[in-house]
Amino acid sequence: MVLAQSALQGLLGQGFALGVALLATFTSLAALGWLAVALRCPACGLRLLWRAVTNERATEWLIWLLSLSRCPLCHFRPRSTSPSA
Ligand SMILES: [Zn+2]
Repeated sequence: MVLAQSALQGLLGQGFALGVALLATFTSLAALGWLAVALRCPACGLRLLWRAVTNERATEWLIWLLSLSRCPLCHFRPRSTSPSA
């Protein structure tokens, strides 16, 4: 990353590298915000990513979110989930 940053600065100047870094940061934040709003339970509308981030520990929220097989609020279970899960 440092090597790439140095090469980019040498090639195009520090202002461009800073612009790319800011653009990447804002794009990431926008994607995270969109996911927090868009990832919802189809039955009750619970925002699952927001629920995970605000109610689970910082080291466990992603594991909790990925291990969900049903909605924690209304217990909706999608049909595509395998019976063993
Ligand atoms: Zn639900």
